[in-house]
Order: sequence, then structure tokens, then C-alpha cells
Amino acid sequence: MFAGALFILLGAFSQWQDRPGAAIVAFSLAIAWSVRQPAQKAWRAVRARRLDINTLMVVAVAGAIALGDWWEAATVIWLFDVAEWLEAWTLRRARHAVQDAMAVIPERAQVRRDGREQEIAAIEVVIGDLVIVRPGERVPVDGRLTAGASTVDQSPITGESWPVEKQPGDAVLGGTINGMGAFEMEASAPADASAVARIVHLIADAQARRAPTQQFVDRFARTYTPAVMLLAIAVAFLPPVVALTGAGGAGGAGLFGAHLAVWGYRALMLLVAACPCALVISTPVAITSALTSAARRGVLIKGGAHLERAADITCVAFDKTGTLTHGRVKVTDVKGVDGTTAHGVLGVAAALESRSEHPIGRAIVTHARTEGVAVAAGDDFRALPGLGAEARVDDADVIVGSHRLFEDRQLCTPSLHAEFELMAERGETTVLVGRGGAGLGVIGLGDSPKVAGADAILALRAAGVKWIALLTGDQQRTADRLRADFGLDDVHADLLPSDKVACVEALRARFGPVLMVGDGVNDAPALAAADLGVAMGAGGSHLAIETADVTLVSDDLSRLPYLLTLSQRTLAIIRANVAIALGLKLAFIVLAILGVTSLWMAVFADTGASLIVTANSLRLLRSGRT
Ligand code: ADP
Ligand code: MG
Repeated sequence: MFAGALFILLGAFSQWQDRPGAAIVAFSLAIAWSVRQPAQKAWRAVRARRLDINTLMVVAVAGAIALGDWWEAATVIWLFDVAEWLEAWTLRRARHAVQDAMAVIPERAQVRRDGREQEIAAIEVVIGDLVIVRPGERVPVDGRLTAGASTVDQSPITGESWPVEKQPGDAVLGGTINGMGAFEMEASAPADASAVARIVHLIADAQARRAPTQQFVDRFARTYTPAVMLLAIAVAFLPPVVALTGAGGAGGAGLFGAHLAVWGYRALMLLVAACPCALVISTPVAITSALTSAARRGVLIKGGAHLERAADITCVAFDKTGTLTHGRVKVTDVKGVDGTTAHGVLGVAAALESRSEHPIGRAIVTHARTEGVAVAAGDDFRALPGLGAEARVDDADVIVGSHRLFEDRQLCTPSLHAEFELMAERGETTVLVGRGGAGLGVIGLGDSPKVAGADAILALRAAGVKWIALLTGDQQRTADRLRADFGLDDVHADLLPSDKVACVEALRARFGPVLMVGDGVNDAPALAAADLGVAMGAGGSHLAIETADVTLVSDDLSRLPYLLTLSQRTLAIIRANVAIALGLKLAFIVLAILGVTSLWMAVFADTGASLIVTANSLRLLRSGRT
């Protein structure tokens, strides 16, 4: 670019010194220097039977040379290069912003293997390794805290500005910064599959995919460019031909030439002025900025299309466990029936649940351990999503799950039912335990609602959501309590995964586009069915995260209203961009046909429009924390 500018200055100087030969040499050098990239792209486009901006530019430059306007030809193509570079720079900047934020995984990790502490490369940590994290260090991998306690600064990953307290059992994310305490953790994913690594992949994916507005702009450019070419040809040749036929006879040829010089120049100006550079970059720059901005705040959006859709959401459906509640389920009560002891119930249930990823299962296993009940893992574990699970323990069929499951299978004995009623009355989640067709007992579990959830729900309403519902596989009484706590519009209880899908569809028919938030395997079908699926990133199951369109890294519900407003702001900015780009274009095309502007002014206007559009989009990057 500097070389191009230098040659142009040299040419201008020679012209001023009245040495036209030298000036032409300098300008041709400038053109040759700047035209290489557009020419290559134009050639590729023409071979693919397309006309794009690059073709437009190359034709404009060739025309200017043919008219002998060397200075203009050189400036036009150089300014075009500047605009292209500007666009690439913006996109690169946005991408770097993500990568910088993500280049946080330390390279080494301290692990304890076979009782010996050793330092290894972070990439060599495997699932199940015991990792030791000292005060002030960065956490090398994702995992669960097993011993010690500390506060952890999660801002590099989730954008949360306050340090979060971590105790044994809590999830810790790779890339976060440990505070004052030392702790040990069990790695739950190798370094290259950590939440951070997933973020980088998701962003890369998102950028490869194009948003609908982007596709609109592409389609537009595809018909627009040939149309402009035709118009330019008409402007260049029609008036001379009219003049020729009007004059008739001998003087005609000279008249034709004179007219062609005037109108040819105007046609060229039209070509250059019509270059839709600003229009072409109006959408991707805004979308990339918004995706980057969201990623920094712990909201991973898997593509511009999903971001755009968030603006239309009018109804939100929440899952309960792990979404509206922390999912840190704790066993509060264990009762045996018909002669089984509480420890007996716990032992059997824990043996089954030792293979479960469900928060209820994990809570039962943890409780059995703290109670000192020996747990022998069962075989043939099978999850019954939304209902419970079954397995073989000591050669007997064991089943744990909801009251509905036991009713369906006709396993609910009178004594089991009586105990269930007593516990469920208190609004606790209650699961039943059975073995070999007989009822063993019931387990009551408590979970704390997310305090921030109520604020998030108010903010969602402010962002334009008309209906907020709860979809849960848990019993009605527990759901009703949450309806009061959070001010929900409606609750649907005792739902199987397929019922959740039906609910989402019913909600869509009544209220319009539905956003579903969930964490579990049982939520995955509903996440896919919803217009926008949002998964919990820290506590969510892999299936939910894979299926969802958006992942909240820190499980923070306040990010939901943020997502909706970000989407609305992005669309507003894109609309403004398109209006600016098209408006300026239209004005210049008219001016060009009237012959009021000159070629370099046209290019300058286009670069200016690109700059305005870019600056407007970058505002999304800087938008304040929500
Ligand atoms: P939610 O929709 O609130 O996230 P789920 O659909 O995951 O809840 O579970 C619904 C119900 O199914 C639970 O309340 C529980 O009664 C039962 N359940 C599901 N999985 C298990 C399990 N692994 N162990 C025991 N009960 C379970
Ligand atoms: Mg759940």
C-alpha cells in the first residue's frame, strides 16, 4: 500500500514538473502494484461466471486508462485496496479479540499420579488426573474440585467480574485464575476439549457460517453488479450513438468520439461509485463484533443466524433442575419401607446411580459416600430420561425414579406411596427406589433456586418476552413452588423429553418464536425443537451443549436478556449500515450520471462509507457489560 502511494505521489510530482512520460510510468507502476489482488479475484469470479466488485474495479481501471486518465486509474485502485485492507483488518481484529481472550490456558500442569506429584504439559492431562492448583495460578483444565477451597476469578472465560467461591464438588473451568487458596481437582476433560477450546472452535465455526442478512447482501451483490455494468455500458454508448444518428453524414465520427469521451468518463464514474464495498462489509463486521462481544461475556453463539433469531423471541421456556435451580442437588431425607433400612435404600440407589450423569444421581452417590455406605457399581445401567434409571445390582433389577415412573410400571406399593406423599407434601423432589419388583424406600432431595433468576426473568420481560414457562420432569408441587418464587406465567410438570417438545410446539403456536433453556439429556429434543436452544455450559450435559444454538459458559441466567438485547442492537446496527451504504451509493450514482463528481471522489466516498459502517459495527464490541 505504501509502495502504491509512493508511486502515485511520484507520478503527481512528474506531472507537476510537466514530464508526462515519467508520470505515466509512475502511475502504471502504482496501478500494477495495487491491481494484482483485485485482478486475481476478478479472474476467479469471471471463471466462475460471476461478476463481483473486483470485476467492477478492474473494468473501471481499464476504462480510465483507455481514456488516458492515469492519475485517476491509479488512485481508484489504490483506494480500493485500502478499503479491502480495512475490512480484513476489522475482521482480523475481532477474531484476535477472541483468541487473545482464550490464550489463557497455561502450558504446564501439576498432577498427582500414583501418589507422586509431577509437572507435565497441560495437554497431557487425561480425564481423572488429580491436578494441584496453587494460589494465584491459572487452572490448566476443566474439572471438579476434590480437596481444599478457594475463590476463583472466572472473568477470562465467563466475563463474570466477581471471584467465585469454590468448594469440593464444584466445577472449575480451565483458564480461570485461582485466588488465595490451594486446591486439588479431578480433570473432567483434556486441555484441548476444555470449555475454552470449545469456545475457539465455536467461534471459528460461527464465522464460517453466514447469517441470513449476509446471504441477502451476497444475493443482492450478485444481481446488482451485472445491472450496474449494463447501465454503465448504456451511459457510455447511448448518447454518442444518438448524437451520431442525429448528426448523420461526414462530421459524425468526430462527434461520436467527443461524446464517447464525456459519457465514457461518466460511465466509469458510475462503475466506481456503484462499488458496493460498504454494503458488502455492512453485515459481517457487525455480526463478528457481536459474536465476539458475546463470547467475552460467556455467551457462545454458534453462528450469525442464531444471533439474528434471538431478536424475535417472544416466549421463553425454562427447564428446572440445573437451569432455574443450581443443580447442586442434595439428599435431605432417606426413608425405607417394609423393613428396609435407610442405609439399605441408599446403598442400592447409589450402586445404580454410580453410572448416572444426572444431578439427582450424583447427589445420591455423594450422600452415600458421606454416610459411609459401601457402593458397589451396578451393571447394565440405562437412563430413562425424564423418568429415572435402571440397572442390575447384585443380580437383581433395580429401578430409581419419579412417582410417575413407578405408577407407569405398576411398582408403587401402598407403603411406598404413603412415604412419597409425606415427602412430596414439603415440595421436595422425591424419587422412589425399587428392587426386583418390590418397593424399598424413597429419597427426598433439595435444590436451591438461582437467586439471580428472578432478576433475569424481569429483564427478559423488559426485552420484549411475553410468556415465560417452566417445563420439568419433576412433580407438580415442586414446580408450583418455583412458579411463585420466580413469577413465571405457567408451569408444566411430569414431562417426558417428548412432552417437552410438544410443550415447546404448543407455546410457539400460541405466542410465537420460543427460546428453550436447558441443561440435561432430557432437554436436548426440546432444545432442538425450539427456535433458539440455549444450553448451560458448566453444568450442562454434552448432548445439550451439542444440540443447542447458544451455550452460557457460566450457567448465568442474566446472560439471557443480554443475548436478546444484543441481538436487537445488532440488527438495528446492520439496518443502519445497509441504509448508510445504499443511501450514499444512490446519491453518488445520480451525481455520476449528471457528471457532477470526479472519479477519485467516488472512491473516496466509498472508502468513507466503509469506514462509517465499520466504526458503527465496532460499537458492538465495546458495549458495556450487562
Ligand atoms: P428436569 O426436567 O427438572 O430437569 P428431569 O427431566 O431430568 O428433570 O427429571 C425428571 C424426574 O425424573 C426427576 O425429578 C426424577 O424424579 C426423575 N429422574 C430422572 N433421572 C433420574 C435419576 N438418574 N435418578 C433418579 N431419578 C431420576
Ligand atoms: Mg435439567
